[in-house]
Amino acid sequence: MRPELHFDYLHARNHWNNKRVRNIIRDVLKTEKKMKDAINYKWANSHIFIDALSGKPAIIVGMYNNSETITFWNARNGIVIDSFTGKIWLPEWSNKIYEWTSQIDSGKTKCNDCGEWVNHINHYDFAGGVCDKCYNPKVHRAPDTRGD
Ligand SMILES: [Zn+2]
Repeated sequence: MRPELHFDYLHARNHWNNKRVRNIIRDVLKTEKKMKDAINYKWANSHIFIDALSGKPAIIVGMYNNSETITFWNARNGIVIDSFTGKIWLPEWSNKIYEWTSQIDSGKTKCNDCGEWVNHINHYDFAGGVCDKCYNPKVHRAPDTRGD
């Protein structure tokens, strides 16, 4: 059994706008810990998701105690989307999350170079992805899966 915490695509807008980032992280991680403790789950990995309108997970959320940075990955392919850093959660961040969930629901991924949302992504390194226009095989090396 793997505990997962799922927020819907409007959660940030409804609950996090203008709150202290440290407090949001503390509260979310406290809830996550309670879930893990309830089933005696020891892994430290993040299982925090934001679900899209479709109800499917769209975004993986990386939160760390005493940090003011939150990182986001595309839950469908593991490619990094962006990270936010600041003392206060800005309403524009909630708007971005809402937009991301709808892009991801339509099968798109954000290019890590130009920022465009595209249908086809070239996966590189651990969690990198670029569109066909930005792709350079000398720079964007395929993920190393030899250890898998
Ligand atoms: Zn691009």
